[in-house]
Amino acid sequence: MISHFDTKIEFLKGVGPIKAAILNKDIGVFTFGDLIQHYPFRHEDRTIIHTIAATNEEMTFVQLKCKVVSMQLMGEGGKKRLVATIKDGTGIAELIWFQSIAWISKNLQIGVEYLVYGRPNFFRSSLSITHPEVEIFSPNLDANKMFQPVYHTSEKMKNMGLDSKGISKLMAVLLPISLSHINDTLNVNITNKYNLIEKKKAIENIHFPKTAFELDRAIYRLKFEELFYSQLKILRLRSVRKSENRGIVVKNVPILNDFYKNHLPFELTNAQKKVLKEIYADMNTGKQMNRLLQGDVGSGKTIVAFICMLMLLDQNAQCCLMAPTEILAEQHLTGLKVFADKLNIKMAILTGSTKKSERKILLADLENGDTKIIVGTHALIEDPVKFKNLGLCVIDEQHKFGVAQRAKLWSKNQNISPHVLVMTATPIPRTLAMSFYGDLDVSIIDELPAGRKPIKTVHRFGSQRLAVYGFIKQEILLGRQIYIVYPLIEESEKMDLQDLYNGYDAILDHFPMPEFQVSVVHGRLKPAEKEFEMQRFIKKETQIMLATTVIEVGVNVPNASVMLIENAERFGLAQLHQLRGRVGRGAEQSYCILMSGNKVTQDSREKLSTLVRTNNGFEIAEADLKLRGPGDLIGTQQSGVLDLLIADLAKDQELLRLAREEVQNLLASDPNIEKLENQLIKNQINSFNKNSVNWARIS
Ligand code: ADP
Ligand code: MG
Repeated sequence: MISHFDTKIEFLKGVGPIKAAILNKDIGVFTFGDLIQHYPFRHEDRTIIHTIAATNEEMTFVQLKCKVVSMQLMGEGGKKRLVATIKDGTGIAELIWFQSIAWISKNLQIGVEYLVYGRPNFFRSSLSITHPEVEIFSPNLDANKMFQPVYHTSEKMKNMGLDSKGISKLMAVLLPISLSHINDTLNVNITNKYNLIEKKKAIENIHFPKTAFELDRAIYRLKFEELFYSQLKILRLRSVRKSENRGIVVKNVPILNDFYKNHLPFELTNAQKKVLKEIYADMNTGKQMNRLLQGDVGSGKTIVAFICMLMLLDQNAQCCLMAPTEILAEQHLTGLKVFADKLNIKMAILTGSTKKSERKILLADLENGDTKIIVGTHALIEDPVKFKNLGLCVIDEQHKFGVAQRAKLWSKNQNISPHVLVMTATPIPRTLAMSFYGDLDVSIIDELPAGRKPIKTVHRFGSQRLAVYGFIKQEILLGRQIYIVYPLIEESEKMDLQDLYNGYDAILDHFPMPEFQVSVVHGRLKPAEKEFEMQRFIKKETQIMLATTVIEVGVNVPNASVMLIENAERFGLAQLHQLRGRVGRGAEQSYCILMSGNKVTQDSREKLSTLVRTNNGFEIAEADLKLRGPGDLIGTQQSGVLDLLIADLAKDQELLRLAREEVQNLLASDPNIEKLENQLIKNQINSFNKNSVNWARIS
């Protein structure tokens, strides 16, 4: 049976096939249900009547009760306009029309009292409103019109009469025939506990509230439900995985003992020890591990990953370590191969630039089980790559890999599910982690290795450039090395390159050869060329490394003490924080200099001052979430996973916590949602399952 909500939108009175097509295309509305869930993003409060005198530049809209005093045609050609002067007893203002002039001048009457609504403009402190809404004032205004919903639309929709008003007209047709079909979706004990209104009422009032209070309660109720079901989805997925997927059981770890005793060059931090215990406990259960390892840049995740791999090797399994770029993969290889050689473990690297002849041997060694650890890029997930017994996948900086790519890695062992350890240095705010990685267990390294000095960060403007260069020169004369970064914006790689070359010229002027040597690395170079330049810097043959991207400076150069970031205002907090983490790895005091243009927006100023204020990755992540919103944080590619229509992970953190708590209670008492008392919830899940993606496959 097709439900009322699945009815195609073209069958709604006033829509038809042509408008339906544009609703499909522009706002993804296909059915009655979709339109009902096209919630307004705000409401215009028409209960208040302002005065001309009290209107100010801060207001986005005003509603005035006024009379027209005079009308006048002004200007020529494109600037031709109708100007009506109005008064309301507190002052005078102007209404301006560039369009429909003939019609308006015929109908607008002098002396009649109007209700005027629109966006206030000020020119030399006199108020005007362009293209206002105007209607004759009547003392008993329709109460239903007092809070008008404002809907997202598109230019095309507007041209077909589907502006916000047009949508609200459709809604006024749809809601009355739909309300009786809306069932409640939350148990009474929950609605009572949180004082939530009925779903039906909530839907009605989110579109057409009569008071601000009604609107608030509708929003609260819908947000709660949305967060509740998103958490339910995530937490059930996690419990299914935990009970069903088998992983290799890690038990004795003799290699590991050898490594600890004879080869580990430093004492692990307490935080590293703690996460290793958590991971070991996980892999000891016989179930597949799915764990997120979070730790700030420089917190020592790589060695943790290596130790985890050793645990698996004792079980005769193989491991892979996947990095987002070739340079990072190579760095992992160089860093870890030293240990692997000492332990007699065969380790290899596979990237896009591995030669054909080498590749053949390499793949054979992997398939017959000789190679125990393989490091690489996304080349690892390609079909020809087969393992004898893949036991653990470590994924470094996972946000660079799509969900589907990760799923493909898993499928490389047909007998048993490889354990998965996802490492990230992008600190993720708690709420986002709960939603986005809610199905993973989380381990956090919240401590840096001892002896690191906190990096000093400053914000400098273009006008202070000479002083900055002076400082850099001093550092170089002390024997340190410098990064200068023009971070990459993908859409405008050409422009970045231009910036980089201009910067290079300026640097050569101030840091002349042969006294100073500069390496330049950017995305257009061939891997071998990059490698050559990197090596020169690593070997201290050059003192300055000029680069375009975050990735290219993924190397570990403890002698580098200054990170200068150009155009810092153009980039995200998380990215800036990552870049900064490239210095401060040695014993010397390190510095991060954020260069911006002389003029920056308020948001940018706030962003940069956050970095100046704190080195704490989690604090930075919270600020980032507030500034940018969750979609941008995760990257558009994956933001669909969050799937939220109305809740906002930045603003609704407390509500999310409550919803999650209720979901946990529910699952504790009824893990499979089969009790009679939870029938409403079960129905709702079934209706989701009918038309959504297969969540169990998304890792
Ligand atoms: P990230 O977490 O950013 O990946 P790395 O794993 O690259 O950090 O580690 C950064 C540096 O710190 C490396 O040079 C590594 O050898 C070193 N390191 C890791 N753990 C410790 C420790 N417990 N004590 C001292 N140095 C450590
Ligand atoms: Mg790392």
